[in-house]
Amino acid sequence: MSDGKCIFCRIVAGELPSEKVYEDADVIAFMDISPVVRGHTLVVPKAHHPDIAAAPVPALQKVIAVVKKVAQAQLQALRADGVNVTQANGEAAGQVVPHIHFHVIPRFRDDGHSWTSPQRKYGDAAEMKTFAQKIRQGLDA
Ligand code: AMP
Ligand code: ZN
Repeated sequence: MSDGKCIFCRIVAGELPSEKVYEDADVIAFMDISPVVRGHTLVVPKAHHPDIAAAPVPALQKVIAVVKKVAQAQLQALRADGVNVTQANGEAAGQVVPHIHFHVIPRFRDDGHSWTSPQRKYGDAAEMKTFAQKIRQGLDA
């Protein structure tokens, strides 16, 4: 990052190599160099937005349209049995590259991959309501 650009901005600018599968005026999709499952593709807006909170809705709409195209290509051309779409925001969520991106991961019945975290439970219904109430207030803000 000698010129201050993030790694995905450098890929967008062609300053770093990538194995591109799709590109238009606003969006680029390229192969993840460390695939969770082979075929793992990243879909990235060309403009630098750090995360989902910072990215404008029109930019996200363009990206999600490409996410759908790539997912369909993985289902058809890779004959994937399923597809995971994941996206991390912030270090606490596991985001490593601070330029918003969607992971599109083809899944095969025998791919050996699993999302291992067990699902948790709320202490009681009131606790769930408290979380819901805070989110509703956040939506209204
Ligand atoms: P995240 O943890 O959601 O920020 O994901 C960042 C992803 O970027 C990881 O899956 C990395 O393997 C991938 N990655 C990092 N550098 C490159 C690169 N130069 N080309 C392709 N993928 C990359
Ligand atoms: Zn960037």
